[in-house]
Amino acid sequence: MTERARAQIDLDALRANVGVLHEAAPTAALLAVVKADAYGHGLVECSKAAVSAGASYLGVALAQEAIALRQASITTPILAWLLQTDSVDEWVELVLADVEVSVSSVRGLRKAIEAATQTGTTARIHLKVDTGMGRAGASLQAWEGLLRDSAQAVAEQSIEVVGVWTHLAFADQPENPIVEHQLEVFNQALGQAESLGIKPALRHVANSAATFKTPKAHFDMVRPGIAVYGLSPGVGVGTSQELGIRPVMTFSANVIQVKELPAGHGVSYGHEYVTTTDTSVALLPVGYADGVPLAGSNVGPIFIGSRARTIAGRVCMDQVVVDIGTDQVVEGDEAIFFGPGDSGEPTADDWASAANTIGYEIVTRIGPRVPRIFSGGGT
Ligand SMILES: *Cc1c(COP(=O)(O)O)cnc(C)c1O
Repeated sequence: MTERARAQIDLDALRANVGVLHEAAPTAALLAVVKADAYGHGLVECSKAAVSAGASYLGVALAQEAIALRQASITTPILAWLLQTDSVDEWVELVLADVEVSVSSVRGLRKAIEAATQTGTTARIHLKVDTGMGRAGASLQAWEGLLRDSAQAVAEQSIEVVGVWTHLAFADQPENPIVEHQLEVFNQALGQAESLGIKPALRHVANSAATFKTPKAHFDMVRPGIAVYGLSPGVGVGTSQELGIRPVMTFSANVIQVKELPAGHGVSYGHEYVTTTDTSVALLPVGYADGVPLAGSNVGPIFIGSRARTIAGRVCMDQVVVDIGTDQVVEGDEAIFFGPGDSGEPTADDWASAANTIGYEIVTRIGPRVPRIFSGGGT
């Protein structure tokens, strides 16, 4: 491997993970969440692989992500859920591209209707209700009004309500009573919709955690993201291994310098690491600009020279140093930051606990300077 660094993406693992998620929710359709460049794994390749493994929907946050999928000739149904409500432009583009849009407010509904009118078609929408997350979605006070306006637009054939949906705040704590409460509120919200004549084909709630742990949240479709990429949705849900999923990304870099340092020598900015013996250090040409967390300074695990080591001193913008002791490491050797974990390398979840963050952040922050290298096909 001659590149500086790389993120290898194992599409076979991704497909197997989709299969595991399908088995966990066998009666539901599966929407694979591919926002944020498929959690840093590569939007188009991962989307194709997910679809080939049985995902019948793709989910994105932004309009531009949905458009990128259509430009790649992906014809699978797509739901986009974080749209600008101050302008109709994105809505028109999405409706023209046959992308389904989430509506959380009367203002958003107006944009969907306007887009349908401008394009001479019907906008396919998913009405989102906030059942307790306190984030996107119509508040319970606003829900009935949104339903009434939607019912009218359905009658006028400017929109079709394909879905009604919500998101859980505690899916990673399946025993938390708020999970049950949100599901009750969701069922009430569905009842209100039905009484106004809105019967969506797709009621959907479950992220990865709820796909595994809360069957009552499966409804017609589940929306897993992180588990598609083989990472744990949270400690309360289980490790990847316990869930039967496999990390998809392996992030590694090649050593560009090896040198000896005497005992008592400081390493990197601020000398936050000081050698305790005469030793050797290896320099790796990746840093926080590539997504290695600064919080991994002195604690981030790394597999180098056939063993697990820890980053020495502060993570820099483009470089990190590892104290390799007397191990035989030469320039050009590959050092693995994280991977599936079966050859002794750390996982992204190991990195998350070392850097006091979540696996989601570890993989999504691997930057654009790092090429994604795909194996396992996907088309
Ligand atoms: C990101 C996201 C998901 C996927 O969540 P995971 O925890 O990654 O499975 C599902 N639904 C919505 C609305 C999201 O924003």
